[in-house]
Amino acid sequence: MKLKNSLTFLAGFAACAALLVLVAATWSPTKGVPESELGVYYPGSEDLKPDEMRIVALGTGMPSARPKQAAACWLVELGNGDKFLFDLGSGCHERLAAQKIPYDFLDKVFLGHLHVDHMGDLPTFWLGGTVMNRLTPLRVWGPSGGTPEYGTAPDTRST
Ligand SMILES: [Zn+2]
Repeated sequence: MKLKNSLTFLAGFAACAALLVLVAATWSPTKGVPESELGVYYPGSEDLKPDEMRIVALGTGMPSARPKQAAACWLVELGNGDKFLFDLGSGCHERLAAQKIPYDFLDKVFLGHLHVDHMGDLPTFWLGGTVMNRLTPLRVWGPSGGTPEYGTAPDTRST
């Protein structure tokens, strides 16, 4: 009986060893998923085709300062080279600078409304353009105010 158990054990052990050798022969170490398959965009790493559009959420937060989340700011890039900014909320200018797009290509801004969470970084963005050699005028579209002294036009004149 002991001999039969020992032979069964050895046969099982040999089968397991053979299976391990077979698996090891075809084994490949786990590799990271290529960045291109993660759906992560790195600035300047992907060209757009003429009929494509890229929308980058530079800020999706609230007016309150948060270390990792700027207030509203969306960069829209078209395949023909046009670029638009929708909102310039507080904290987003830094995120915009990280895109490394020359300021001349960022000369069209649309403001959803005139709270700091949608236009708080407009002054620094405008000033950044003057320091970073923006050669085109900055154009800003936004709501009018209830009276002539309020709204986008008087607000941007004072910037
Ligand atoms: Zn608001």
